Amino acid sequence: MNRKKVVIGVFTSLFVLLILGYSVFHISKSRTFQFFGEIVPRVATEKKVVALTFDDGPTGYTSDVLSTLQKAGIKATFFVVGHTLEQKPYIGKAIVSEGHELANHTYSHQRMWFKSQAFIADEIEKTNRLIRASGYNRDIHFRPPYSKKIFGLPWYLRQHNIKTIMVDIEPDTYGSDTGFLVEYTLANTKPGSIILLHPFCDACSGQREAISMIVSGLQTKGYQFVTVSELLAYKDK
Ligand SMILES: [Zn+2]
Repeated sequence: MNRKKVVIGVFTSLFVLLILGYSVFHISKSRTFQFFGEIVPRVATEKKVVALTFDDGPTGYTSDVLSTLQKAGIKATFFVVGHTLEQKPYIGKAIVSEGHELANHTYSHQRMWFKSQAFIADEIEKTNRLIRASGYNRDIHFRPPYSKKIFGLPWYLRQHNIKTIMVDIEPDTYGSDTGFLVEYTLANTKPGSIILLHPFCDACSGQREAISMIVSGLQTKGYQFVTVSELLAYKDK
C-alpha cells in the first residue's frame, strides 16, 4: 500500500468515527428515540389531556408548588432526585398525600451514560425505595437527567419494565421570563403533551409563577390536567 492510500484510509476512518460520535451524541439526548424499551415524549391521543411534570428536588420550594396545585385543583407528576428526597422525606410524603405522582430522576442526578449496570441499578433502585417509603404505590416511571441515555440505561429500564418519560413542551429551553414561559406553553401544547418545568431552585421564581397561569390558560382552551400514569392510559383514544 502506498503512502497516499494510507493517508486516505486514515482520514476516511477518522471521518467515519467523527460521524458516528456525532450521531451517538445526538441519539443520547433524543426525546423520541432510545435503543431499548419504551420512550414517551407525548401520548398519542385526540383528547385534550396533558400532564404537567416537574424535575429535580424536592426542595423548600416544593410546598409553594403544592399549594399552587391545590388552589388550581390539579394533579401533577414530580420526577424527584433520590439523594434530595432522602434528606427531605416529609416533602415526598406531602406530594403523595396530596394525590400527585412521584417518579424517578436518579439518585445523584448524574449523566447516565458510560455507567456500569451496577451503577445504574443502584441509582434507580435506591430512588425507587425512597419513593415507596413516601407512600407511593403505583408504577414508578423514569426520566434521565439531562435527557442522557445511550445503551446501558435503556437496557436496564427495558429489563425492569420501566418506561422512560420524556417531554414535548419544555419552555425554559428557550427563555426564563414568566410571560414567555406561559406564552410558549399555551402556543405549543397539544392533546397528550407532557409539559416540563423546573420550579425548585432559588432562581426559578419565574417558573413557579408560571404554573398557575399555564394551568388556567390551558383549562380555558379546554385542557384537563392528569398525572403521567393517567395520561398513558389515553393512548390512541
Ligand atoms: Zn434534572
